[in-house]
Amino acid sequence: MAENPKVTEHPVIWYQASACSGCVVAVLNGAAPTVQDLIVDQLVPGHHVSLRFQPTVMAGQGDLALEILAASEKATDGYILVVDGAIPTAAKGRFGLAGKIGGETTMREQVLALAKNASAVIATGTCAAYGGIHAAAPNPTGCVGIAALLKEAGINKPVVNIPGCPPHPDWFTGTVAHALLFGLPGPEQIDYAGRPKRFFGRLLHDLCPRRGFFEAHRFAKDMGDPECMYELGCKGPWTHADCPERQFNNGTNWCVQAGAPCHGCVEPFFPDVCCPIYVKIGLAALPQIRRDQASGEMVAVARPRPAEEN
Ligand code: SF4
Repeated sequence: MAENPKVTEHPVIWYQASACSGCVVAVLNGAAPTVQDLIVDQLVPGHHVSLRFQPTVMAGQGDLALEILAASEKATDGYILVVDGAIPTAAKGRFGLAGKIGGETTMREQVLALAKNASAVIATGTCAAYGGIHAAAPNPTGCVGIAALLKEAGINKPVVNIPGCPPHPDWFTGTVAHALLFGLPGPEQIDYAGRPKRFFGRLLHDLCPRRGFFEAHRFAKDMGDPECMYELGCKGPWTHADCPERQFNNGTNWCVQAGAPCHGCVEPFFPDVCCPIYVKIGLAALPQIRRDQASGEMVAVARPRPAEEN
């Protein structure tokens, strides 16, 4: 009888902060791998994700579930902390209250406590990565992404950002699989916004099948027209993601192909600079795409929109 090969367990705590759960649903809808591959089987041969806490799918409720978080705060086995949702910091974090055994805590305190013992943090979705919609101006709740929160608290942990509203499930599972096999992507594999270059290393505009129309200055006038959607507010020219190649819902479709302009949802300045979503942003307000002197990478730098365009 063949001997079972050794399987390495990788504990994961998935904490939902100020979120809509869309990122969780997106990951659960992954097709290759499926959620079964992800949390029941071995994501990659010899490596199993041991999902200890995930409020959307776990059976445990109340104190039973919260005991796992309490134990994790003392754990020393180097779990990966996955966070989706932004973290409210205004009013000492009390815009984001969460349960704790015997009382309540703030999401801010809970995330910081979990991050201290984590081996690494994966920010899933634009809200966890950069604050996203929750941090839209004027941001009365003081929402921030996890990297900013940890920096402010002086906690030094490797953070990988998997933005998107929601992110493609491949972006998440591909990053986790890479982490299990080789460790987290290193600095040379991460772009200026903390994203894996494998998925976010190219401009969406360069991959778009409507690019020929853009070059020929043939622009759609109405939703549903087949030409380039730049005049209808498409943010593809400064959005970094492989949506046109990868496509969502098991390779079925993506925003532009479905007749909707790209919203730029993976960018650090989404949604403030990307809105109004269906209005062309004038060239004066577009983020500057320039080469970063230190890294040599092409980076997008947001700048305030001129008052006359508001
Ligand atoms: Fe670029 Fe958007 Fe036009 Fe595609 S539809 S070519 S991404 S501006």
